[in-house]
Amino acid sequence: MRIDLHAHSDASDGTMPPRELVAAAGQAGLDVVAITDHDTTAGWAEAAEAARELGVGLVRGLEMSTWYHGGSVHLLCYLPDPDDPGLAAELASTRAARVGRVQQMVTALARDYPITFDDVTAQATSATTLGRPHIAAALVANGVVADWDEAFTTMLASDSPYYEPYQAIDTAHAIAVVRAAGGVPVVAHPASSRRGPDLPDDAFAGLAAAGLAGLEVHHRDHSAAQVQRLTTIATRLGLLVTGSSDFHGSGKANRLGENLTDPVVLEAIAAQGATEVIAH
Ligand code: AMP
Ligand code: ZN
Ligand code: FE
Ligand code: FE
Repeated sequence: MRIDLHAHSDASDGTMPPRELVAAAGQAGLDVVAITDHDTTAGWAEAAEAARELGVGLVRGLEMSTWYHGGSVHLLCYLPDPDDPGLAAELASTRAARVGRVQQMVTALARDYPITFDDVTAQATSATTLGRPHIAAALVANGVVADWDEAFTTMLASDSPYYEPYQAIDTAHAIAVVRAAGGVPVVAHPASSRRGPDLPDDAFAGLAAAGLAGLEVHHRDHSAAQVQRLTTIATRLGLLVTGSSDFHGSGKANRLGENLTDPVVLEAIAAQGATEVIAH
């Protein structure tokens, strides 16, 4: 069983529509893929239809934007009830904050570069959630940078003067909201070298006590030393260990299936989730 539990469609900042993402997962030899768009379940219906038609297993999830003591933490949320009012309200408020934040960043960028907010939304026609990748795509389209990576290492970096943060929920609170919605919370790329400081060791016990289910240990942004550190922490706290690609289509180098999750772990996630896994 080849299981990849983290992939984005164009419902957020991936470049493939949900149907194409599921088809690509099948072509990549995956038995199961998870659709985990940032702060939205807008891609679920199309992905589910494609999964049933193409015989690809599907885990419906999302990746919530949260903050832990001033640092950005991405929280994967698997198999929640998408109609849970508490979860839906949090996601809607983060999406709204993200729009204002992209507008602010574009206003600042426009003082120095040829870019408008319309250029950005033109790159996000199917997106329910706006993010920096849409700004990157507009900068590429306008000939300012060669690719997303150049934009992210310069004007879109988190220490760039053009960068703006956005309002989102605290990580421990998000874990409670996810659990209340029947979702299974897993910290995404907890030690991603490119996203800023690591979560400190003592963060994990508190998040586990708040109801955290697992850690995404196997991810391309983790060094071998970080994989070892996170595996030790997960074992000590009884947390599940997942692995995934964090595929975004053509915008990032991540390839479907480059990291995988053990079938036993998927079974444990399925047993805790409110929405069923679509079988392959
Ligand atoms: P945002 O959530 O709007 O702050 O944007 C962060 C998103 O940008 C994440 O989903 C990342 O996967 C993506 N991202 C971060 N760095 C890069 C990069 N160097 N190239 C392409 N995408 C990136
Ligand atoms: Zn993304
Ligand atoms: Fe992420
Ligand atoms: Fe992601």
